[in-house]
Amino acid sequence: MDFKSLIRDVPDFPKEGVVFKDITLLLKNPTALNKTLKALYDLTGGQKIDKVVGMESRGFIFGPMLAKKLNAGFVPVRKSGKLPSTTLKETFDLEYGTDTLEIHIDGIEKGDKVLIHDDVLATGGTAKATCKLVERLGGEIVQCNFLIELTFLKGSSKISDHAIKSLIKY
Ligand code: 5GP
Repeated sequence: MDFKSLIRDVPDFPKEGVVFKDITLLLKNPTALNKTLKALYDLTGGQKIDKVVGMESRGFIFGPMLAKKLNAGFVPVRKSGKLPSTTLKETFDLEYGTDTLEIHIDGIEKGDKVLIHDDVLATGGTAKATCKLVERLGGEIVQCNFLIELTFLKGSSKISDHAIKSLIKY
């Protein structure tokens, strides 16, 4: 399937100079939605996975669907102040300023085999912080799994100690 034909470039979103990859055309197409889920699942190669960790907010779209297909649990990583119970936090640098991600401390048990999933790997800051959170809780990262990788931003270099699989590359 030509997934790229269903990914729309939106110039100057969320700010000037950024070309945003919009996945909503792919999501609203039932055939594409199904095929994308199957292809993301196939990237995992049948490995045993206990938890899928998805990042706010577009990691919450395919993350839980993948978890269901893998017979795994789903654990959300959220922006600061959104998770209600006790959390671990990781702060990382953005182009201007910093951002903080959190995970519930009981989201991952020591030794859990974890699949990290997000829609887009861009600069890799989000994925790196998420990997750190999972590892601080004793999780074993089996794969970092993305719908889209913007290879020109070299995000994979930030998480190069993990297996990385992306369905669509630019
Ligand atoms: P990074 O931390 O790798 O620079 O950015 C990745 C995060 O930003 C992901 O959570 C992703 O959802 C979001 N993101 C960055 N650029 C894009 C984009 O072009 N399209 C979409 N859909 N999300 C993006």
